[in-house]
Amino acid sequence: MSPETDLMRWLRDAHAMEVHAIQMLEKQARRIENYPDLRNRILEHLEETRAQAEMLERCIERHGTTSSPLKDSAAAFLGNVQALSGLFFGDEVVKGAIASYTFEHLEIAAYRSLIGAAEELGDGETARVCSEILRQEEAMAGWLERHLPEVTRQHLRRQSTGEPAKR
Ligand code: MG
Ligand code: FE
Repeated sequence: MSPETDLMRWLRDAHAMEVHAIQMLEKQARRIENYPDLRNRILEHLEETRAQAEMLERCIERHGTTSSPLKDSAAAFLGNVQALSGLFFGDEVVKGAIASYTFEHLEIAAYRSLIGAAEELGDGETARVCSEILRQEEAMAGWLERHLPEVTRQHLRRQSTGEPAKR
């Protein structure tokens, strides 16, 4: 397999990852009721994520691949993520925030690797796009890192006072 084929496959995987991220973030934003800061940050990242998927599509198109294989890749990626779901991906807010934090780091790793691949193949535009996306993933991971303890404390306080705490 040529290095170019590898880059294309990894770009399609990244696209599948973002399609899955859109679904996850939409679901979380819909569920959260009592944690407005977290919900707002998720909605903000949802908009970024939609744009990320489009930027990746353009990178793939510049290499002349049609959009049809994107769907197969998305299905395959979902299977891998669901293997993790029993561990971390619960329906309550703390589990959801942990899942998001985990997912952002998967994205960070993927884009660091993609930047290296794109640079190696002289695809400066893909390297630039992946660096831009990487900064957004790092910002989201950083926000979650700072807010996870507080979300957890709020959850416990709401539980102990009998307020709705799960969402
Ligand atoms: Mg992303
Ligand atoms: Fe992300």
